[in-house]
Amino acid sequence: MTLIVQKFGGTSVADPEKILAAARKAIRAQQEGHQVVVVVSAMGHNTDLLIDLAHQVNDRPPAREMDMLLSTGEQVSVALFAMAVHGLGHKAVSLTGGQIGIFTDSSYTKARIRSISSDRMRRLLDEGNIVVAAGFQGIDDDFNITTLGRGGSDTTAVALAAVLQADACEIHTDVDGVYTTDPRQLPEARQMSCIGYDEMLELASLGASVMHNRSIEFAKKYHVPIHVRSSFSDTQGTMIVANSESASAPVCGAALTRNEARITVQGVPDKPGMIFQIFKRLADQKIAVDMIVQNIGQDDRADISFTVPREEFQPTLIAVQEAAGAIGATGITHDEQVAKVSVVGLGMAKQTGVARKMFRALADAKINIQMITTSEIKISVLVHRDESLQALRAVHQAFELPKRPADAVKWDVSSASHANGADVNAVVADLQSADMEQLLLEDISLADDQARVTIVGVPNQPGLAANIFDAVAAAGIFVDMIVQSYDGFQGETSISFTIPRDQFDICLKVMHELGTKFKFRRAHGSKDIAKLSVSGIGMRSHTSVAIGMFEVLASAGINVEMINTSELRVNVVVASGAGQKALACVQQRFDANLR
Ligand code: ASP
Ligand code: MG
Repeated sequence: MTLIVQKFGGTSVADPEKILAAARKAIRAQQEGHQVVVVVSAMGHNTDLLIDLAHQVNDRPPAREMDMLLSTGEQVSVALFAMAVHGLGHKAVSLTGGQIGIFTDSSYTKARIRSISSDRMRRLLDEGNIVVAAGFQGIDDDFNITTLGRGGSDTTAVALAAVLQADACEIHTDVDGVYTTDPRQLPEARQMSCIGYDEMLELASLGASVMHNRSIEFAKKYHVPIHVRSSFSDTQGTMIVANSESASAPVCGAALTRNEARITVQGVPDKPGMIFQIFKRLADQKIAVDMIVQNIGQDDRADISFTVPREEFQPTLIAVQEAAGAIGATGITHDEQVAKVSVVGLGMAKQTGVARKMFRALADAKINIQMITTSEIKISVLVHRDESLQALRAVHQAFELPKRPADAVKWDVSSASHANGADVNAVVADLQSADMEQLLLEDISLADDQARVTIVGVPNQPGLAANIFDAVAAAGIFVDMIVQSYDGFQGETSISFTIPRDQFDICLKVMHELGTKFKFRRAHGSKDIAKLSVSGIGMRSHTSVAIGMFEVLASAGINVEMINTSELRVNVVVASGAGQKALACVQQRFDANLR
C-alpha cells in the first residue's frame, strides 16, 4: 500500500471551511487507496498572534515558555482537523510532536530534529486512520516541548515522509507551485514543472518563501520528492527533486532580496585572522552574513565588504565597530539602500559565459553593479535598491525564464516515488543512528591549479563588468570565481577573478590592454593560488562552517585571499604554498561531519 504525507499550511486551514476542504482532500487520497499522514500548521496568523501575546506579558519571554505557547497553535489545528474528518464520516487521530516521538535537541524556538519514531503512526494507519500530525514541534530528552523555527511545519512534513518512506510528500499551500521568480514582483514569472533540491535551497535562502529551508535539506538528504501545490485547486504544482527542470538551461530562477545593507571595513591589516575577528562577533550574535567580498590589499591593507539583511544592520554595525577597533582597521562605510539580485542554476557549472550574460543584461539596462560574488550554482550582484526591480526583470528576461525550456522535464507525479535511486536500507539505518539534522559534509577538497587576477582602480560605472568579461572570454580564458568589491575611493571598484594557472600571462596581457582603454589603475595578480572548498548540505544554515574555516586558517597563520559562500559550498582562496596545510587543518576540523 502506498503512503502519502500531505501538509497544509496556515492559510490552508485558516477557518472552519478551509479545514473541512483540506479534510476532504485527505479523505479523497485515502479513498484512492493511500495511507495518509496529514501535517498541519497553526490556523492563519495564529503563531504571530501568540508571539504578540507573549510580548505583552514579557519583553523577552523565556524561550522554553515560548515553545510551550507556540506549540498550542498546531495543537488547535490538528484537533479541529481530526474532528472535521470524523464529521465527514472517516477515522482520524491527531497527535502532537511528543506523542509521535519527534525528538529534538533543546535549542528552544529553533530546535533541530534528532530522531522520529514511526511505530505509533504505522499502527494508527494500519487501523485505517488518517494520522493528523502537529507540524513545527517536538520534544527534547526531558519531554520539554520544542519548536523548529518559523515555517517549521514543512520540515516536519518532509521528515515524516522520510521516516515513513512515503511515496509522496505534498505541500499544500497558497501558491500553486515554485516560480522562476516571485510572481508578486514580476508578473511574467513562470511556474516550473520541477526544480532541483540544490536550486531550491539556494532560492529559498534568497527569500523565495515557498518552503522552509531546512525541509529542503532534509528532502535532499533522504531523497524525498516534494510536490508543492495549491490547496485551493487540484492542478499539478512543482516537483522538488534531484534534477533541474531543463538539462540545457544554465539558470532556473532569479531572486531579488530587496532589503539588504552593505558594510565595508576599510584598511584591514592584510594578515591572517582578520576575517575571523570580524565574523566571529557576528556569528556570536547569530547574524547571518552574506556576499562576503574582500578586495586584495594595497599597502598591506584590505577592505572587507559584506551584506546583511537590513533589519540586522544596527546590531551588525555595533559588532563591526568593535571588531574594527580590535584589529586596527581604518574605517567603516555602509549603505542601507542596496538590494541583491541573484540567478541560480545547476546548469551554470557546465557552461561558460553565464556570469558575463548577466553582467551584459545589467549593462544594457544601464544598471550599475556595486558588488559581485559567484559560486558554482549562484551569481549575485548588489545594486541600488531603486534599480533592483528593473535589474531583476532584465536578468529574468536575459535568461529567457518566462519561456518554458524546450527540453523541460514533463513530470509525472505518480512516478515520483520515494528514495529515487537511493539505497533505502542505508537511509533507514542513517535515520536510526544519526542526528537527522546533523551537519553533513560531502567533500573537502583543494584545487591547486589556479591563478588570481585583480584589477584595481576600475571606474565604477554600468557596463564595466560586462566589458571586462567579454574581453576575457574573447581571449578564450575560462573564468571560475568572480568577486567585485565595493570601494568607496573616488567611485572606484576592484575586481578579482580566478582562472587556470596556465592562462595567467595571457590574461594579464589582455587586462593591460583593457586598462588603457577603460582607465584602470592597475592589473596584477598571483600565479599561484589554491581554492579550498567544503561542500555539503545546509552550509549556510549551519553558519559554523565558514566561521570554523576562518578560525582554523587564522590559527594556522594562513591568509584568506578570496571567499564565497552558498548553500552548497564555502570556497576560500589561499596562496598555493599554503594549500596543503590549509586542506589538512580544515579536514581535521570537520572530520566528524564528513559523510
Ligand atoms: N505555525 C508556525 C509558523 O507560523 C509553523 C509553520 O507554519 O510552518 O511559523
Ligand atoms: Mg508556513
